[in-house]
Amino acid sequence: MMWKDIYGLLPQSERRRGVWVALTVLLRSLLDFAGVAALIPVLVMVMGREPDARRGLLLCGAVLAFVLLKNAAVMRLARFQSRYLLDLYREFSRRMFCNYYRRGLLFLKGMSSVQLGHEVNYVCYVFSLSVLQPLLRMGSDAVLLLMMVVALVVWEPGAGLLLCLGFVPIAMGYVWIVKGRLRRYGAEELEARRRQSRTVVEAFRGYAELEISGAFGDSLRSFDEGLEVINRSRLRMETMQLFPMFLSESSIVVGLALLMSVGGGDLGVVSGVFAIAAYRMIPAVRGILYSWSTLQNASFSIKVVAEGIREEREEPEADEIEEQMVDFGNGLEVKDLHFAFPDGEVLLKGLNFEVKRGERIGVQGPSGSGKSTLFNLLLGFLEPTSGEIRVGGQRLTAGTRRSWHRLVGYVPQEIFIIQGSLTENIALGRAVEPERIWRVLEQVQLREWAEGLPQGIDSPLGEYGSRLSGGQKQRIGIARALYKEAEVLFFDEATSALDSATEHEINLALEQLSERHKELTMIIIAHRDSSLRFCDRIIELKG
Ligand code: ADP
Ligand code: MG
Repeated sequence: MMWKDIYGLLPQSERRRGVWVALTVLLRSLLDFAGVAALIPVLVMVMGREPDARRGLLLCGAVLAFVLLKNAAVMRLARFQSRYLLDLYREFSRRMFCNYYRRGLLFLKGMSSVQLGHEVNYVCYVFSLSVLQPLLRMGSDAVLLLMMVVALVVWEPGAGLLLCLGFVPIAMGYVWIVKGRLRRYGAEELEARRRQSRTVVEAFRGYAELEISGAFGDSLRSFDEGLEVINRSRLRMETMQLFPMFLSESSIVVGLALLMSVGGGDLGVVSGVFAIAAYRMIPAVRGILYSWSTLQNASFSIKVVAEGIREEREEPEADEIEEQMVDFGNGLEVKDLHFAFPDGEVLLKGLNFEVKRGERIGVQGPSGSGKSTLFNLLLGFLEPTSGEIRVGGQRLTAGTRRSWHRLVGYVPQEIFIIQGSLTENIALGRAVEPERIWRVLEQVQLREWAEGLPQGIDSPLGEYGSRLSGGQKQRIGIARALYKEAEVLFFDEATSALDSATEHEINLALEQLSERHKELTMIIIAHRDSSLRFCDRIIELKG
C-alpha cells in the first residue's frame, strides 16, 4: 500500500526514468553478485591443498582488475540513481512551493508560513533521501541477497536452506516488532521539528514583546522540550537500527550450528559458506533492514508530500489558464456582491457601486466591517460568494485577474518589504531605472531621506523592513505603485503605527498625487473623514 502511494506521487515524466533507475538497481546487484562470485575461485584455491603461488598471484590480479572495473561501473550507476533522487527532490519541492502559493490568500492566511516553509524545504528533502533512497538500496540489496541464496541453494542445498531458516524468522520478527514504533518516532520528530522552527522564528520576530513580558524563558523551555523530543526519538530509532546487526550475526551463527549438526561436517564447505555469508550476506541483510527502518521512520513525509503536491482545484493551474486581456475602460462595477469567509458570518451583503476612470473613492466603516476584505475581492484574491465584479465590462476571473493586476497598484495595511535594497523594494520585480526611482521617491517625499542613507537607494532595509518606520513603509508602498505606473491605486491605510503628523503627511502625499495624476483612479480606505476630503464619493461599510 505504501509502495503504491509512493509510485502515485511520481510525476508522469519521471516514471519512465524510474524504469531505467529500476534497471540500474538490478544491474548494480548483478555486478555486486559477480563481485562475490569472482572471489570464489580465489577462495577455493586458498583452501586447496597445494596452492601454486604464481598461478595464485595471476588469479588474484585478474580478480582485482575485475573488481576495480565493477566498482567503477557501480559508481556510475550510483550517480545515476542519486541524480534521479535529487531531481525528484527538486521537482517535489518546487511543485509544493508553487502549489501552496497558488492555493491563494485564504489558504496562506490560514496556515503557518513557517510550517509551510518547513514542508517545502525540509520534508521534501527527507522524502527524497530517507524514503526514496532507502527504497532503491533495499531493492538492490534484496536482489543481491536473493541471487546469493539461490546460488547457495543450488550449490549446496542443505547449507542454503539452513541459512535461510536461520535468518528469515528473525528478520520477520524484527519487522513485526519495530514497524509501528519507527513510524511513531518519525512522526514525533517531525512534529517537534515543526514546533522548533516556529518557536525560533516567533522569538526573533517578537523580540521586543517577549523581552518586555519576560517571556523568552517560556520560549526557551518549549525549545528545550522540542530538542528533548527530537533527540529521544532519534536515539530510539537509532537503537532499533542497531538490532539488525546483532540479528544478522546471530542468525548466521544459528545457521552454521544447524549446518554442522545436520550436514555432518565437510569443513571446506562450511567455512566457504561462512566466508561468503560474512562477506556479503550479512551486510545485505543488514542493509535491507537498515533501509527499511529508515524508510519507516520517514514515512510521515509521504503523506505530507502527497498533500502538498495535490492539486486543490479542478480548474487548470494559473499558468494554463488562457489569459484574457482587460483594460480599465470605463471603470469598475460591483454588482450585488455577497461575501462570507468559509467559517464566518456574511460580511458583505448585496454591495453595489461603480468606480469610473479617474474617480477618487473613499471607503469607510468601523474596524472589522470588511474594508480590507473588499479590497481582496476587488483584486481577485478572494472569490465572491455571489454577485460579480467587472473590470472594463469584463468579469473578474482567474483568466482576467493577471491582466487586471498589471493595471493596479496596491498599498496594503501592512506593507510587505522584501529582503533587499530600497531600489529592489520599489522596483519589485521590474527593471531598475535609478532616475525613475529617484523621481517616485521625490513624489512620496522620501528623496531627502534616501539621500541620507549610507548607500543611498542601494541601502538594505533590514528583514521585513525592520529599519523602517510605519510612515516610511507606507510611502515605499505608494512609491511602488507609482513606479509601476498603475492606473488604479488601492490604498489601505495603516490602522496603527502612524502618529498623526505622519498620517497627515501621507494624506498630503496622496492628495498631491491626486492633484498631479488626474488620470489615476484611486480607491482609498481611511479612518478619518479629513483623509478623504479630496474624494469624489465615499462608500460606507456598516459592519
Ligand atoms: P477591516 O479591514 O474593515 O477592518 P477586514 O476586512 O480585515 O476588516 O475583516 C473583516 C472581518 O473578517 C473581521 O471580522 C475578520 O475577523 C474577518 N476575517 C478576516 N480575514 C479572515 C479570514 N482569513 N478568515 C476568516 N475571517 C476573516
Ligand atoms: Mg483592514
